[in-house]
Amino acid sequence: MIILGSTGSIGTNALKLAKDHNIKIEMLSAGSNIELLNQQIKQFTPSFIAIKDTKDINKVNINKNQKIFSGEDGILEALNHTKSKIVINAIVGFSGLKPSLESIKLNKTLALANKESLVVSGNFIDTANIIPLDSEHFALQELIKDKKNIKKMIITASGGALRDIDINEIANQTPQIALNHPNWNMGKKITIDSATMVNKLFEILEAKYLFHTNNIDALIERNSIIHALVQTNDNAIFAHLGHSDMRLPISYAMLGEKAKNTESIKEIDITNFNFKLSKIDTNRYPLWNLKDEILKQPQLGIILNAANEILVYKFLENKIKFGDISSNIYKAIEQFETQIKYIKNIDDVFMLNKEVMDFSSFN
Ligand code: NDP
Ligand code: MG
Repeated sequence: MIILGSTGSIGTNALKLAKDHNIKIEMLSAGSNIELLNQQIKQFTPSFIAIKDTKDINKVNINKNQKIFSGEDGILEALNHTKSKIVINAIVGFSGLKPSLESIKLNKTLALANKESLVVSGNFIDTANIIPLDSEHFALQELIKDKKNIKKMIITASGGALRDIDINEIANQTPQIALNHPNWNMGKKITIDSATMVNKLFEILEAKYLFHTNNIDALIERNSIIHALVQTNDNAIFAHLGHSDMRLPISYAMLGEKAKNTESIKEIDITNFNFKLSKIDTNRYPLWNLKDEILKQPQLGIILNAANEILVYKFLENKIKFGDISSNIYKAIEQFETQIKYIKNIDDVFMLNKEVMDFSSFN
């Protein structure tokens, strides 16, 4: 098994499962957390290691049987040496795209947490060999099995860290408050994406490409226990419930059918929860106004993703206000919307991504 982004929230959870089930890890990749990577190398003895920056190469402790690669191309080169069939891509952001494309090219099964890959290039990716590593899409996949009469799919959103803040005060919230997610313990970027509702826009596109449908919507479920629902033509509705953590989707990605009998996940006492599903309020989440448009013109995902990635890190570095994330995403869309009709292949995706990232960095 190969784990990209092994030092992150999904990556460390995947490694916990690998340890519990004695799964051999052939390759690990990380960004800058070399200290944690070194612990993982010691514990899992991968044959191939890839890191983001060449300057860190001497800090990585490897033995003579292990090979290390660095930089954007290093991770691709390392992948080419591997024999494992399954790649877990848990890198955050646009940097996950090339490793996703390379894994698909190498005919590996891609367990995809890096939803940004699909958001920007779902039009050009064959999703047949992709296992969704996202709780809502995992739930949808379980729900649609054996059903032929699906009318509508619904994923849920928690509402994020600012869901109970007075609407007039949202724009001025600090990173510290916006990172305090009520239900989920995740990496910083996706936690902010959850507060802006960008994460749900991403997931709408993810569902579109994975399940080939435009009949997909999202509702707020404050417990993050119901992950998805499907409505059939007879107007019955089926729901998928699970803990608000990623253990179940990760187990299925790593163990396959064996995950069905996993006993490590404890029962949910559903009497502990009040379940209510409600519409996403576009006054609170102005970006949610993009939902229908993005389904019609999915290439907008390239602009949304690029602008968002730059703006989220600017916000985390206290360079802009929380409210500037959404207003500046709209500015980027206005600036580049006319260009999406020229996107004909992956190279065009990389070009537009760069232009939008530059624009959002300087505006
Ligand atoms: P984290 O920020 O916790 O982890 C990101 C990982 O990517 C780290 O290992 C980081 O390395 C690595 N990384 C960052 N930049 C680069 C780069 N340029 N090149 C190579 N590696 C890099 O994020 P999460 O684990 O929360 O999320 C990962 C992905 O999974 C995201 O796309 C997210 O949307 C998705 N996801 C996450 C869920 C969750 O529960 N966390 C749920 C569903 C989807 P380092 O830390 O060493 O710098
Ligand atoms: Mg999700």
